[in-house]
Amino acid sequence: MKFVIALDQGTTSSRALLIDRKGSVIGTSRREFRQIYPRPGWVEHDPLEIWNGQFEMLNKVIQDNNVLPEDISAIGITNQRETTILWDRNTGEPVYNAIVWQCRRTSDYCTFLEKEGRTDIIHKKTGLIVDPYFSGTKIKWILDNVEGIRDRAIKGEILFGTVDTWLIWKLTGGKVHATDYTNASRTMLFNINTHEWDKELLAEFTIPMEILPEVKQSCHIFGKTDIDLLGFEIPVSGVAGDQQAALFGQMCIEPGSFKNTYGTGCFMLMNTGEKPIFSNEGLLTTIALAMDGKVTYALEGSVFMAGAVIQWLRDNLKLIERADETESLAFSVSDTEGVYFIPSFQGLGTPYWDMSAKAGITGLTRSAGKAHIVRAALESIAYRTKDVADVMTREVGMELSSMRVDGGASLNNFLMQFQSDLLGIDIIRPENIETTAMGAAYLAGLAVEFWSGIDEIRTIWQKGREYKPEITGDKITKLYQGWTEAVGRILNKEAKTII
Ligand code: ADP
Repeated sequence: MKFVIALDQGTTSSRALLIDRKGSVIGTSRREFRQIYPRPGWVEHDPLEIWNGQFEMLNKVIQDNNVLPEDISAIGITNQRETTILWDRNTGEPVYNAIVWQCRRTSDYCTFLEKEGRTDIIHKKTGLIVDPYFSGTKIKWILDNVEGIRDRAIKGEILFGTVDTWLIWKLTGGKVHATDYTNASRTMLFNINTHEWDKELLAEFTIPMEILPEVKQSCHIFGKTDIDLLGFEIPVSGVAGDQQAALFGQMCIEPGSFKNTYGTGCFMLMNTGEKPIFSNEGLLTTIALAMDGKVTYALEGSVFMAGAVIQWLRDNLKLIERADETESLAFSVSDTEGVYFIPSFQGLGTPYWDMSAKAGITGLTRSAGKAHIVRAALESIAYRTKDVADVMTREVGMELSSMRVDGGASLNNFLMQFQSDLLGIDIIRPENIETTAMGAAYLAGLAVEFWSGIDEIRTIWQKGREYKPEITGDKITKLYQGWTEAVGRILNKEAKTII
C-alpha cells in the first residue's frame, strides 16, 4: 500500500491530506464549516456538519488523486483540542452542539472553583489552570442544561468525546469509543500523573464515569473504518491533539526540543521528557505523546493574538490587503522609530496575566507611518514569543538552543529573522510546514509499519530555511527593554497573577 491519510480537523475547517512513503503531500482537500455564536462569548460547532464535512474531504482526497481505498495503509487524526461533544450511544445523534474550546460560557463556574481554592489541586492532577477553555466544565454544562441528559448519562446511554473521539466513533461505525493521551490531557478530568480519569474531579464536576472514552496511546490501532463507508476497512491508527501532533511532526522528540506555531495565536510546546514539569508562571503541563508504552510530557505556553494582529491590520485598519505584504513593508524601514504595538486585544497572558488589558500602540511621533506600525505589529509577535520563551527557560532551567517553527505566519521572513535576533538562537523552518497533519500521519503510519520507525521519519523531516541571529548585544537588549516598558504602560495596576 502506498499512502496514509491525515485528517486535520481544525477550528474553522476540516482537511484531509494524502501522504506517500517519502512524506510528500500528494493531495489535500479542505472544507470550512459554520461557526455558531449563540451569545457573546459562546462558540459552538455542529458535530454532524464536522463529521459529514470531514468524511466528504476524506472521500474527495481519495477520488481527486485517483487512488483506491485499498491503497491507503492507515488514517491518522489530529484535531482542535478541548472541544466537547456529547451524543446518544444508540442513535449517534449529538444531544447538543459541540462546545468549542474558545467558548467562555463556564467562566462563572471556573471563578467559583478558584474561590473554593481548587486551583492548586486541579493543577497538580491535570497540569492545567482552571479555565473554561478545557472540556470538563463544558461537559458539566451540557449535563446541567440539556433536559434529561444527566439521568441518561448515568444509565450509560450518552457518550462524551473530544473531536478525535467523535471522528473515531463515526469512522468505526460506532464500534470504538476512545481517545488518546494527548487529547485526554486537555479535558481537566485526566490525571496526568496516574494516567487515569480522576475520580475525585469527576465527582466534583458531577460527571458520570460511564460517558468517558477509553484512553489509548497516540500510536495505536484504534479500530478500522466501517466497511460501508469506503468499501474497505482502513486502520485508524494515529491520534493526537493539534499542538502535540505538530510537536511530533517537527520531530521534537528529545527532551528540551521545542517548536512554536505561528497561526492566529502562537503555541509553544517543549518536550520535557518522561517527567512532568509543573509551572509556577501559568504555563500548562500536558501530555506530548504516548507511544511504545512511554508517556512523554510537554510544557505549553500560548499567545492569544499573533497572526490575528495582522488580520486586524488588514480587516479593521485596512493598512494592507494581504498578510504577506507585511514582510516587504517591515523591511522597507530600518526600525520602528520607537513604535511598539501591544496586541492585548483579549488581555495579556503569560507572563503578565492581565486579562483586562486593552491593546495599544505607543511611541508614535509625527514621522511614524504605515510601515513603522506594520513592522511594530510583526515585532510584537516576536516579543510575545520571547516573553513566553523566557518563562519556559526559567521553568526547565536550561538555555534554549534552536527553535523549530511552523504555522502561516512562519512564512514571514522579516518576522523569523527578528525572532532569531530577539531570542539569540537559530530558528528553523521545515521544508514542509504541514507539521500538524504530518504528525498525525507519522503516528498512523508507524502503528501499521508503513514506516519502519522513528529513524525513517527523521529522514523525512527536512530543513527548509534557517535564520541565525544577526543583531545581538546591546541593541537587542534595548529593544526588548523598550517593549517591557511599553507593556507596562498598557497593564492595569490591579493586574493579578493567576497562579
Ligand atoms: P490558523 O491555523 O490559526 O488558522 P494559520 O497557520 O493558517 O493559522 O496562519 C494564518 C495566520 O497567519 C493569520 O492570522 C494570518 O494573518 C497570518 N499570516 C499568514 N501569512 C502571513 C505572512 N506572510 N505574514 C504575517 N502573517 C501571516
